[in-house]
Amino acid sequence: MRTFILLLFLVSSFSQYAQDIPTRWDELTASDWPLAMEKSNKTIILPIGVLEKHGPHAPMGSDLIHAREWAARVAKEEYAVVFPDYFYGQLNEAKHLPGTFSLPSKLTMELLEATCEELGRNGFEKIMIINGHGGNPPMLRYFVQNQMASQRDYAVYFYDPSTDPDFQKELNALRKTDPAGDMHAGELETSSLLYLRPELVQLEKAANESGADQKRLPRIPNVYTGIWWYASFPHHYAGEAEKASAELGKLVTEQKIASMVEALRAIKADKKTLELQQEFYEEVEELSREK
Ligand SMILES: [Zn+2]
Repeated sequence: MRTFILLLFLVSSFSQYAQDIPTRWDELTASDWPLAMEKSNKTIILPIGVLEKHGPHAPMGSDLIHAREWAARVAKEEYAVVFPDYFYGQLNEAKHLPGTFSLPSKLTMELLEATCEELGRNGFEKIMIINGHGGNPPMLRYFVQNQMASQRDYAVYFYDPSTDPDFQKELNALRKTDPAGDMHAGELETSSLLYLRPELVQLEKAANESGADQKRLPRIPNVYTGIWWYASFPHHYAGEAEKASAELGKLVTEQKIASMVEALRAIKADKKTLELQQEFYEEVEELSREK
């Protein structure tokens, strides 16, 4: 009898654990919340995109759609809770075009900070940021560095991959356009949309505008300015999307998902980041007490 009860307990706890619960926060019930925290090891993915023009042919939310689709696919392979759509990124350079949703820079940083604090208040210890917008990484790196400014009991991990030369070779062999000019809504980005959400792409309109570098700003060696993007690509389109293919999109997406899953697994297993953060905050606190 005792064995039977034990068996029953094991079966029921296993089936509860194996039970498929949603990954998205907005789709979870309060009853499933504790299991979601357990399965995710208190890890949440924060997918960040923006709303902006993507050439004449791709949806305004292309970056958001990418981040959302990646997060959904990643969390299906390795469980994590996924934050609902977040589209408050750095987008000053596209404010001259309709369809751009760009909040004031200070507010963008504060909103992200408050969002992470709120995730921490809900019990998440690890926040993995997945980004879909090319104009976000400098802001996100600065944001992550700012995490050192004051004590908190969660860690922010920004998925910020370096290029893999072997994969790059494979990718370039399939590309039809020059990677140097393929920067926004071009062949690569449109290809992955053709793979992820083909019904949203109007490929026949891709050549209605030029995505070529207009080279309007004389080169100033080793200097960065904010206007460079507008100077080169006033139409907010860089590349030749008409040459996009779902095949290229599949290759680039599958590589990205695999790399993100690997990162998520390492984040879930990681204990050292939080431990060292704590040690660091304590030392900062001690130093200010000594004064
Ligand atoms: Zn984009």
